[in-house]
Amino acid sequence: EIDALCQSAGCNAYIVGGAVRDYFLRMDSCDMDIVIEGNGMIFAKSLGEKLNYIVKTYEPFLTATMQLPSGQKIDFITSRKEVYLKPAALPIIIPAGLIEDLKRRDFSINSLAIQLNGRDKGRFYDLFGGLQDLKDKKIRILHDDSFLDDPTRIFRAVRYAVRLDFKIEKHTKSLIAKALAEKAVASLSSERLSNSFLSVLSEEKTAICMEELNRLGVLAEIFLQGSFSINELRKMDDDKIIRYNVLFESPGISCDPVLLKLLLFFFPCSLSDWQSIKRVLSFDKKYSHCVLQMIEYREKFMDTLQQSHLSPAEVYQLLRPLYTEVILCLLLACDHLQIERYCMMFLLDSQHIKLHVTGKDLLNLGIKPGEIYGIILKQVLAAKLDHKIVTY
Ligand code: ATP
Repeated sequence: EIDALCQSAGCNAYIVGGAVRDYFLRMDSCDMDIVIEGNGMIFAKSLGEKLNYIVKTYEPFLTATMQLPSGQKIDFITSRKEVYLKPAALPIIIPAGLIEDLKRRDFSINSLAIQLNGRDKGRFYDLFGGLQDLKDKKIRILHDDSFLDDPTRIFRAVRYAVRLDFKIEKHTKSLIAKALAEKAVASLSSERLSNSFLSVLSEEKTAICMEELNRLGVLAEIFLQGSFSINELRKMDDDKIIRYNVLFESPGISCDPVLLKLLLFFFPCSLSDWQSIKRVLSFDKKYSHCVLQMIEYREKFMDTLQQSHLSPAEVYQLLRPLYTEVILCLLLACDHLQIERYCMMFLLDSQHIKLHVTGKDLLNLGIKPGEIYGIILKQVLAAKLDHKIVTY
């Protein structure tokens, strides 16, 4: 279909970036980027109509995303040149040919392309020695101003190096140091900085990525010493989390792993440090609320939770206001047997206990409606949690 559509629209299509890289590495790639020499949005819409797939277009970026029934996505990008008027700001996009489009890319291993149409179908483009770098396991930048133009590439370099078990090539590493010395990371907008930070938390080996970012001096550019902990993040490493599989694989517990890692990372953060961090990073409402909840709770209730005599109903009262991710963070970060027991009991058992008695039943008993209903129902639930009654 792509070939036929290219012919009728008079354009060329290339698969570029992660999918080509992962193909050579024999790794699975989730999504795919197709660069169109022509109008990527019109091309994607026509293809979507032919195949009956949903396509969303993003006018300002000249791109479109096609959703496949399998859940995978294909991004269609109008091939472009990018011009950076100001370091660290978003570039101006000018439609251009494939070669320009490959030059604007971050690393040699991400600048490989394969043509999908016409007489040159299957032609492989490797302008910057990307295939050799894949063999040598190297992350190499394409030009010396790259990190100054777009400092988010520093985070990307570390993510790829850790994910693929590659090394950041020497000259590239020295350019990262130069960009950091020029305060490039600090000049990113809070939105772009937060997205880069969250994309590190989305990686499987987050703790190792953070260690590398710390070694390079990136974290010191963003956070105050003592406001974050890489050690806590290590508790999300696969071998450690296996111990809690009963929680993470329980169908009744839904956990956003990125949010949980965010909470673990900021576990030592004080309220005033968090206020300063919020000036440089902007998270969505739920994420910010959860970090605040974790900090407040850690300061107010940790001593209470370490006591051994709390009844299930008391534990329920303490933990019920918290997000699941905050409870899991306390469980992992505190490393305290009693807290672990209380959290497990709440997550696996107490929070699922339901009352069958309702206000209607109280009305039938002739009790006059009012505040008393809440008090009675709360006490019945407490009695049920403490196994003083088994029904209701
Ligand atoms: P993955 O999605 O597995 O992390 P990917 O390579 O597909 O890897 P994307 O973030 O989806 O990563 O980006 C797609 C492609 O767009 C990259 O391969 C790269 O060529 C290019 N790209 C993305 N972000 C940048 C950037 N900040 N600077 C330059 N090129 C970029």
